[in-house]
Amino acid sequence: MTAAASSVRYLFPPQPQPVVPVAGDDRVYPVHRIFCVGRNYAEHAKEMGVEPEREAPWYFTKPATAIVHSGASVPYPPGTSNYHYEMELVIALGGNAYFVSAEQALRSVFGYACGLDMTRRDLQQAERAKGRPWDIGKAFEQSAVIAPIRAREQFGEIGSQAIKLAVNGQTRQTGKLSDLIWSVPEIVAHLSRYYHLGPGDLIYSGTPAGVGPVNPGDKIVGTIEGLPPVELTIAEPEPTSRER
Ligand code: MN
Repeated sequence: MTAAASSVRYLFPPQPQPVVPVAGDDRVYPVHRIFCVGRNYAEHAKEMGVEPEREAPWYFTKPATAIVHSGASVPYPPGTSNYHYEMELVIALGGNAYFVSAEQALRSVFGYACGLDMTRRDLQQAERAKGRPWDIGKAFEQSAVIAPIRAREQFGEIGSQAIKLAVNGQTRQTGKLSDLIWSVPEIVAHLSRYYHLGPGDLIYSGTPAGVGPVNPGDKIVGTIEGLPPVELTIAEPEPTSRER
Protein backbone atom coordinates (compact mmCIF):
# COMPACT_ATOMS: atom_id res chain seq x y z
CA MET A 1 0.00 0.00 0.00
CA THR A 2 1.05 3.61 -0.37
CA ALA A 3 0.87 6.50 2.07
CA ALA A 4 -1.33 9.06 0.34
CA ALA A 5 -2.99 10.81 3.24
CA SER A 6 -1.28 13.94 4.52
CA SER A 7 -1.84 12.70 8.07
CA VAL A 8 0.65 9.86 7.59
CA ARG A 9 3.60 10.16 9.96
CA TYR A 10 6.84 8.59 8.77
CA LEU A 11 9.33 6.94 11.11
CA PHE A 12 12.09 8.63 9.09
CA PRO A 13 12.06 10.85 6.00
CA PRO A 14 11.21 8.92 2.82
CA GLN A 15 13.88 8.81 0.15
CA PRO A 16 13.58 11.56 -2.48
CA GLN A 17 11.72 10.81 -5.72
CA PRO A 18 14.25 10.02 -8.51
CA VAL A 19 13.76 12.31 -11.52
CA VAL A 20 15.21 12.87 -15.00
CA PRO A 21 15.57 16.30 -16.68
CA VAL A 22 13.52 16.91 -19.83
CA ALA A 23 15.21 18.77 -22.72
CA GLY A 24 13.62 22.17 -23.30
CA ASP A 25 11.24 21.86 -20.33
CA ASP A 26 11.72 23.16 -16.79
CA ARG A 27 9.67 20.25 -15.45
CA VAL A 28 11.34 16.95 -14.58
CA TYR A 29 10.27 13.38 -15.29
CA PRO A 30 9.54 11.40 -12.08
CA VAL A 31 10.83 7.82 -12.37
CA HIS A 32 8.62 4.93 -11.29
CA ARG A 33 10.36 1.76 -12.53
CA ILE A 34 13.35 0.82 -14.67
CA PHE A 35 13.07 -2.15 -17.02
CA CYS A 36 16.02 -3.31 -19.12
CA VAL A 37 15.90 -5.51 -22.23
CA GLY A 38 18.51 -8.26 -22.46
CA ARG A 39 20.51 -8.86 -25.67
CA ASN A 40 18.62 -6.78 -28.23
CA TYR A 41 21.37 -6.28 -30.82
CA ALA A 42 22.64 -9.36 -32.70
CA GLU A 43 26.33 -8.40 -32.59
CA HIS A 44 26.21 -7.88 -28.81
CA ALA A 45 24.54 -11.27 -28.29
CA LYS A 46 27.44 -12.86 -30.19
CA GLU A 47 30.08 -11.07 -28.10
CA MET A 48 28.30 -12.35 -24.96
CA GLY A 49 28.72 -15.89 -26.31
CA VAL A 50 25.08 -16.38 -27.32
CA GLU A 51 23.79 -16.99 -30.84
CA PRO A 52 21.25 -14.25 -31.59
CA GLU A 53 17.77 -15.46 -32.31
CA ARG A 54 14.40 -13.82 -32.30
CA GLU A 55 13.24 -15.45 -29.10
CA ALA A 56 10.76 -13.40 -27.11
CA PRO A 57 12.40 -10.36 -25.48
CA TRP A 58 13.36 -10.78 -21.84
CA TYR A 59 14.04 -8.33 -19.06
CA PHE A 60 15.74 -7.47 -15.83
CA THR A 61 15.11 -4.44 -13.64
CA LYS A 62 16.99 -1.81 -11.70
CA PRO A 63 15.65 0.21 -8.77
CA ALA A 64 14.56 3.76 -9.63
CA THR A 65 17.05 4.92 -7.01
CA ALA A 66 19.89 3.70 -9.30
CA ILE A 67 19.32 6.76 -11.53
CA VAL A 68 22.36 8.99 -12.09
CA HIS A 69 22.22 12.14 -14.21
CA SER A 70 24.52 12.70 -17.15
CA GLY A 71 27.65 14.63 -16.23
CA ALA A 72 28.06 12.91 -12.88
CA SER A 73 31.21 11.36 -11.50
CA VAL A 74 30.62 8.02 -9.78
CA PRO A 75 33.08 5.99 -7.71
CA TYR A 76 34.24 2.65 -9.11
CA PRO A 77 31.70 0.33 -7.43
CA PRO A 78 32.54 -2.28 -4.79
CA GLY A 79 32.66 -6.03 -5.39
CA THR A 80 33.81 -5.99 -9.00
CA SER A 81 37.00 -5.97 -11.03
CA ASN A 82 35.18 -5.84 -14.40
CA TYR A 83 32.91 -2.77 -14.40
CA HIS A 84 31.35 -2.32 -17.87
CA TYR A 85 29.47 0.33 -19.82
CA GLU A 86 26.47 -0.49 -22.03
CA MET A 87 25.20 2.38 -24.21
CA GLU A 88 21.42 2.23 -24.72
CA LEU A 89 18.38 4.03 -26.06
CA VAL A 90 16.02 4.62 -23.12
CA ILE A 91 12.27 4.68 -23.75
CA ALA A 92 10.41 6.98 -21.30
CA LEU A 93 6.72 6.21 -20.94
CA GLY A 94 4.22 9.01 -20.36
CA GLY A 95 0.95 7.11 -20.68
CA ASN A 96 -0.60 3.84 -19.63
CA ALA A 97 0.00 0.65 -21.60
CA TYR A 98 -1.56 -2.70 -20.69
CA PHE A 99 -1.99 -5.34 -23.39
CA VAL A 100 -1.39 -2.77 -26.13
CA SER A 101 -0.53 -3.76 -29.68
CA ALA A 102 2.69 -2.63 -31.36
CA GLU A 103 0.55 -0.28 -33.47
CA GLN A 104 -0.84 1.38 -30.31
CA ALA A 105 2.37 1.28 -28.28
CA LEU A 106 3.95 4.59 -29.30
CA ARG A 107 0.98 6.52 -27.89
CA SER A 108 2.26 5.70 -24.41
CA VAL A 109 5.85 6.81 -25.15
CA PHE A 110 6.63 10.30 -23.85
CA GLY A 111 10.18 10.45 -25.19
CA TYR A 112 13.65 9.01 -25.50
CA ALA A 113 17.03 9.46 -23.81
CA CYS A 114 20.62 8.29 -23.99
CA GLY A 115 21.39 5.93 -21.11
CA LEU A 116 24.17 3.76 -19.70
CA ASP A 117 23.30 0.36 -18.23
CA MET A 118 26.38 0.11 -15.99
CA THR A 119 27.19 -3.51 -15.17
CA ARG A 120 29.39 -5.46 -12.78
CA ARG A 121 30.14 -7.96 -15.56
CA ASP A 122 32.07 -10.45 -13.46
CA LEU A 123 29.21 -10.72 -10.95
CA GLN A 124 26.55 -10.87 -13.70
CA GLN A 125 28.37 -13.69 -15.49
CA ALA A 126 28.99 -15.64 -12.29
CA GLU A 127 25.29 -15.47 -11.41
CA ARG A 128 24.28 -16.30 -14.98
CA ALA A 129 26.50 -19.41 -14.94
CA LYS A 130 24.69 -20.63 -11.81
CA GLY A 131 21.24 -19.78 -13.16
CA ARG A 132 20.76 -17.20 -10.40
CA PRO A 133 19.23 -13.70 -10.60
CA TRP A 134 21.49 -10.95 -11.97
CA ASP A 135 20.65 -8.29 -9.41
CA ILE A 136 24.09 -7.98 -7.87
CA GLY A 137 25.59 -7.48 -11.33
CA LYS A 138 22.95 -5.14 -12.71
CA ALA A 139 20.69 -3.61 -10.05
CA PHE A 140 23.28 -1.84 -7.94
CA GLU A 141 23.66 1.76 -6.78
CA GLN A 142 24.27 4.44 -9.45
CA SER A 143 23.99 1.86 -12.25
CA ALA A 144 21.32 3.61 -14.39
CA VAL A 145 22.88 6.68 -15.97
CA ILE A 146 20.59 8.87 -18.07
CA ALA A 147 20.74 12.10 -20.08
CA PRO A 148 17.82 14.55 -20.42
CA ILE A 149 14.76 13.04 -22.12
CA ARG A 150 13.70 14.47 -25.47
CA ALA A 151 9.97 14.38 -26.24
CA ARG A 152 9.01 11.87 -28.92
CA GLU A 153 7.43 14.47 -31.20
CA GLN A 154 10.69 16.47 -31.13
CA PHE A 155 12.84 13.40 -31.79
CA GLY A 156 10.67 12.00 -34.57
CA GLU A 157 10.66 8.49 -35.94
CA ILE A 158 13.13 5.85 -34.84
CA GLY A 159 15.17 4.82 -37.87
CA SER A 160 18.81 4.48 -38.73
CA GLN A 161 20.07 7.01 -36.16
CA ALA A 162 23.61 6.18 -35.04
CA ILE A 163 24.17 5.00 -31.44
CA LYS A 164 27.77 5.31 -30.22
CA LEU A 165 29.91 5.25 -27.12
CA ALA A 166 33.46 6.51 -26.60
CA VAL A 167 35.81 6.11 -23.64
CA ASN A 168 38.42 8.88 -23.31
CA GLY A 169 37.64 9.93 -26.89
CA GLN A 170 38.09 6.44 -28.37
CA THR A 171 35.02 4.91 -30.01
CA ARG A 172 34.06 1.58 -28.44
CA GLN A 173 30.45 0.97 -29.48
CA THR A 174 28.70 1.80 -32.75
CA GLY A 175 25.36 0.73 -34.10
CA LYS A 176 22.10 1.99 -35.51
CA LEU A 177 18.73 2.10 -33.80
CA SER A 178 17.38 0.14 -36.76
CA ASP A 179 19.63 -2.75 -35.64
CA LEU A 180 17.41 -3.40 -32.59
CA ILE A 181 16.19 -7.03 -32.77
CA TRP A 182 12.95 -5.96 -31.06
CA SER A 183 11.77 -2.48 -32.08
CA VAL A 184 10.56 0.13 -29.59
CA PRO A 185 6.83 -0.51 -30.29
CA GLU A 186 7.40 -4.28 -30.08
CA ILE A 187 9.18 -3.97 -26.71
CA VAL A 188 6.45 -1.78 -25.20
CA ALA A 189 3.72 -4.07 -26.55
CA HIS A 190 5.42 -7.22 -25.25
CA LEU A 191 6.25 -5.81 -21.79
CA SER A 192 2.67 -4.48 -21.49
CA ARG A 193 1.46 -8.07 -21.44
CA TYR A 194 3.20 -8.58 -18.08
CA TYR A 195 2.92 -5.19 -16.33
CA HIS A 196 0.52 -2.27 -16.11
CA LEU A 197 3.04 0.08 -17.72
CA GLY A 198 2.53 3.76 -17.13
CA PRO A 199 3.98 7.25 -16.70
CA GLY A 200 7.42 7.15 -15.09
CA ASP A 201 8.41 3.74 -16.41
CA LEU A 202 11.77 3.71 -18.22
CA ILE A 203 12.87 0.92 -20.54
CA TYR A 204 16.58 0.55 -21.35
CA SER A 205 16.33 -1.10 -24.76
CA GLY A 206 19.61 -3.05 -24.98
CA THR A 207 23.17 -2.32 -26.09
CA PRO A 208 25.07 -2.71 -29.37
CA ALA A 209 28.34 -4.64 -29.62
CA GLY A 210 31.55 -3.34 -28.10
CA VAL A 211 30.88 -3.45 -24.37
CA GLY A 212 33.97 -3.29 -22.21
CA PRO A 213 35.54 -2.28 -18.90
CA VAL A 214 36.25 1.15 -17.48
CA ASN A 215 38.59 2.24 -14.72
CA PRO A 216 38.97 5.22 -12.37
CA GLY A 217 39.79 8.33 -14.36
CA ASP A 218 37.93 7.21 -17.49
CA LYS A 219 35.33 9.43 -19.12
CA ILE A 220 32.43 7.85 -21.03
CA VAL A 221 30.43 9.75 -23.66
CA GLY A 222 27.43 8.06 -25.28
CA THR A 223 25.51 9.57 -28.19
CA ILE A 224 22.41 8.90 -30.25
CA GLU A 225 21.72 11.20 -33.20
CA GLY A 226 18.99 13.64 -32.20
CA LEU A 227 19.27 13.20 -28.41
CA PRO A 228 21.29 14.95 -25.69
CA PRO A 229 24.49 12.90 -25.02
CA VAL A 230 25.12 10.96 -21.81
CA GLU A 231 28.41 11.49 -19.99
CA LEU A 232 29.91 9.73 -16.99
CA THR A 233 33.27 10.01 -15.24
CA ILE A 234 34.60 7.10 -13.18
CA ALA A 235 36.18 8.17 -9.89
CA GLU A 236 38.36 6.27 -7.44
CA PRO A 237 36.51 3.66 -5.34
CA GLU A 238 35.17 4.88 -2.01
CA PRO A 239 37.33 3.81 0.93
CA THR A 240 35.81 0.90 2.83
CA SER A 241 35.47 0.96 6.61
CA ARG A 242 38.46 -1.38 6.90
CA GLU A 243 40.66 1.19 5.18
CA ARG A 244 39.36 4.22 7.07
MN1 MN B 1 21.95 -3.55 -21.11
